[in-house]
Amino acid sequence: MDAKLLEILVCPVCKGPLVYDKPRQELICRGDRLAFAVKDGIPVMLEGEARTLDPTEDIPR
Ligand SMILES: [Zn+2]
Repeated sequence: MDAKLLEILVCPVCKGPLVYDKPRQELICRGDRLAFAVKDGIPVMLEGEARTLDPTEDIPR
């Protein structure tokens, strides 16, 4: 995914920064523990579509 696109993207819930999980193709908000899917290089920034991270799941840095 484009690094510049990643820079301007924020969490739609808390407007915080996102972490790109490349292997999983997800954008992760640490604060909300939500993972937004990236489909064909396009992030799906919808709270209703986001996956809630498991408490034991590692959040990449
Ligand atoms: Zn958030």
